[in-house]
Amino acid sequence: MIKVKGIAAASGISIGPAYRIDKEEFVIPKEPIAQGDIPVQIQLFEEALIQTRREIVALQKRIATDMGQEQAEIFDAHLLVLEDRMLIEEVISRLKKERLNVAYIFLEVLKKYIDVFSKIEDEYLKERTADINDVGKRILRNLLGKKRMDFKDLKEKVVLVAHDLSPSDTAAMHKQNVCAFVTDIGGKTSHTAIMAKSLEIPAVVGVEGITLKIKTNDLLIVDGSMGDVIINPDEATLQFYQEGQRKLKGIAEKFLSVKDLPTLTLDGKQIEITANIELPDEVGSVKLHGAQGIGLYRTEFFYMNRKGLPSEEEHYQAYSYVASEMKPYPVIIRTLDLGGDKFLSQFEIPHEMQNFLGWRAVRFCLARPDIFKVQLRAILRASVHGKLKLMYPMISGVEELRQANKILDDCKEELRKEGLPFNDNIEVGAMIEVPSAAMTCDLLAEEADFFSIGTNDLIQYSLAVDRANEKVAYLYEPLHPAVLRMIKNIIEAAHHAGIWVGMCGEMAGEPAFILIILGLGLDEFSMPPQVIPEVKYIIRSVTLKKAQEIAQKALQLSTGKEVEAFSQLELRKILG
Ligand code: PEP
Ligand code: MG
Repeated sequence: MIKVKGIAAASGISIGPAYRIDKEEFVIPKEPIAQGDIPVQIQLFEEALIQTRREIVALQKRIATDMGQEQAEIFDAHLLVLEDRMLIEEVISRLKKERLNVAYIFLEVLKKYIDVFSKIEDEYLKERTADINDVGKRILRNLLGKKRMDFKDLKEKVVLVAHDLSPSDTAAMHKQNVCAFVTDIGGKTSHTAIMAKSLEIPAVVGVEGITLKIKTNDLLIVDGSMGDVIINPDEATLQFYQEGQRKLKGIAEKFLSVKDLPTLTLDGKQIEITANIELPDEVGSVKLHGAQGIGLYRTEFFYMNRKGLPSEEEHYQAYSYVASEMKPYPVIIRTLDLGGDKFLSQFEIPHEMQNFLGWRAVRFCLARPDIFKVQLRAILRASVHGKLKLMYPMISGVEELRQANKILDDCKEELRKEGLPFNDNIEVGAMIEVPSAAMTCDLLAEEADFFSIGTNDLIQYSLAVDRANEKVAYLYEPLHPAVLRMIKNIIEAAHHAGIWVGMCGEMAGEPAFILIILGLGLDEFSMPPQVIPEVKYIIRSVTLKKAQEIAQKALQLSTGKEVEAFSQLELRKILG
């Protein structure tokens, strides 16, 4: 039995056999071949090149239709790699000379090319390394007849063990046989972790070297609340965790008993508790856990795991469904927040876009009004089916809010001309998740109908800590005095301007933080559905006055750790 510790990403305990997904690193054994096999190996290589060419041309066509010719042209560079006579001839001549399997020779030649290109001073040529790497991997996959892992192939409930999983990988686990997952890398508020919470899959991330310690079929216990992974437990440990599973169920039932009661503090202050969702069919879980609406619908997941961009009609159907299912409660649709750690595999978007500081979210949408308008029109059209609101992610100042609203007005004008109904008074909010927005929230409050504080990003940008990087996870402190002061200022500015303010970052659903943010005056808390009953239970156990006192004391403390210890203590006192 081995016990290892990682970052607790999604709570709950799961027990099951491991299923290890290997990193796509091609370790190809060196195999001598007979002289007579050389033509067969050359043919294999040529077929792999043809197949790769076919794949790239098809991808290019799809991108030209979905995103425009300019984006499609990125792949011309990939096609050029495929036609590189020097590379092809080097593979064939070494194959003939060394008489080794073609996959091995190709990988050797590829490594040499990558090495040479990455050392070149010229920036343009240096960038070609990524193209060569991409195309090279495609060729290798075709040479080896490999497919990417498909979760649908899983026959029993397994614990997935992987170096890393993208948010779209996690979304693809939905309704598949995955009872938990564990990864080598990742942080607590990476979208992979957030997705796991929504799907109610316990997860531990950032467990360095875990893929080296676990083999497929090892029995694993994943404790997503404590961040523990136990490999091949002994009988006593197994029983301990099975008992833990039963206890958790009991606690969950206690919290669930208040789920349909109003969210009132003991002195009668009404608070809104809403849910965060990524996929439309989570509305069932949202209702089950007693949410009073949806405070964050992360629509980018709609663009993932599919071929091409969703059409206006598809957006419209999804939003109308969620709006009418949640009626009379509000649903806040967050417009496309692409980038950071959420990228769309089908576009093979340049690497830079995955960067948290890059061309992403509302910046991408403002630069691509063609894509943005499809979504905005659909939101407007769906607004007649329920209480829809919309908000923009990553607003960094008033100018961006104005630009986005200008495009929204254009969409309204178009719909008016087309005679299509929509709610002209739809509430439009700004997410406050960039420090510059937090510092100018008094100005933004004049032009927005509401704010929603995106603490996941606000923390990473203000503390300069990558939210998805396990190496700096210890610095990711939601209760850092800087963060608390910012939240206080945002709430005060919003209230001063007469608008309401919510919070949809993970902080709003962390039991230990609730008392402080309640005391700071937050109006709406939005969180993964399954934590709603517990948060409701806490809010119903305290007076607003007491929460205000706790917040005031917290603001006097000097470090995040002091604040956290203090708030844990107060929570324990309140819950007995
Ligand atoms: C946030 O940043 O807090 C947020 C809610 O948005 P996301 O996690 O999708 O970036
Ligand atoms: Mg964000």
